[in-house]
Amino acid sequence: MKVKVGVNGYGTIGKRIADAVSLQEDMEIVGVTKTKPDFEAKNAVKKGYKLYAAIPDRVEVFEKAGLPVEGTIDDLLEKVDVIADCSPGKIGAENKPRYEKANVKAIFQGGEKAGTVEVSFSTLSNYDAARGKNYVRVVSCNTTGLTRLLYTIKEDFGIKKVRATMIRRVVDPKEDKKGLVNGIMPHPVSVPSHHGPDVQTVLDVNITTTAFKVPTTLMHLHALNIVPEKNVTADDVKGSLDKEPRIMLVSADDGFTSTAKVIEYARELRLRYDLYENVVWEDSIGMDDGEIYVTQAIHQESIVIPENIDVVRAMFDLASKEESMKITNRTLGIG
Ligand code: NAD
Repeated sequence: MKVKVGVNGYGTIGKRIADAVSLQEDMEIVGVTKTKPDFEAKNAVKKGYKLYAAIPDRVEVFEKAGLPVEGTIDDLLEKVDVIADCSPGKIGAENKPRYEKANVKAIFQGGEKAGTVEVSFSTLSNYDAARGKNYVRVVSCNTTGLTRLLYTIKEDFGIKKVRATMIRRVVDPKEDKKGLVNGIMPHPVSVPSHHGPDVQTVLDVNITTTAFKVPTTLMHLHALNIVPEKNVTADDVKGSLDKEPRIMLVSADDGFTSTAKVIEYARELRLRYDLYENVVWEDSIGMDDGEIYVTQAIHQESIVIPENIDVVRAMFDLASKEESMKITNRTLGIG
């Protein structure tokens, strides 16, 4: 059986999910939606994706622009088993009644509130919680990055307490309407940031986070202090992280001196310089007074894509966590 997948909102996340689904033997892309007939809509058609209007009364706008659509989101919903809602944050919750009415399962993204869905999802920590579910949220880029690393450490050594600081890219590279040109913005100013509680929707861990936005578009950076339950050495931690394919260890000695260099490496590696892995500086892993210190970079535009593939297999009970991760990793070239 091939699961029929639709993408509602062919933007940064939506286009990557469509491409990743196309690489899976047990899934197929039935169609994608756009709100307007811009270059991204034209690219979708060029790539062979069937195009639908995300806003039903805009069909004419597409026709006038010479880019006919196959129908509206409601027509697409009649043809799919699951819809990946990749609309801007909070819009997914507004779209949900449409999916319920069409009796179609839906995957939401990190911009939606946890309360919108039955369960929040991050493959490593709670794959089984999404099995058979109808409405699931893949947690955000920062939360996915934190959860993968913390799950791996927790499994091997236990965790008493985590403190983490998020240095966040202010916007994605394509953004031309807003940004932060010359400043560092505590975001939020008050402590803690929402990231800790968001991690707790998928992983049982004692965590407090703070967050700052900086004028860069490439990646987020996380600085973590973790108090493990067991006595560990820096080499134990390196070994633990090194065995997880969704975590990539890099070294400043090898030229990875900043997120700019990490992205330069990724430009040679993957389409759109997508990095599905947490990028952890192995030189940053150290111990002080029983605490683990570690720094990682997260490519916000692509980190959640493997999880969006795994969640389909969980919701349709197609594979175990290990089987799904193996297929997703192989098809996306991870590890
Ligand atoms: P985006 O702005 O790049 O894309 C959103 C797309 O949805 C656009 O094509 C837009 O035209 C379309 N859209 C607008 N209104 C719509 C509607 N009513 N119905 C359907 N589609 C509509 O946004 P994005 O960065 O891809 O973010 C999508 C979701 O993924 C958000 O929840 C976001 O928080 C989450 N997310 C984003 C990132 C990131 O860094 N970009 C990372 C992880 C998760």
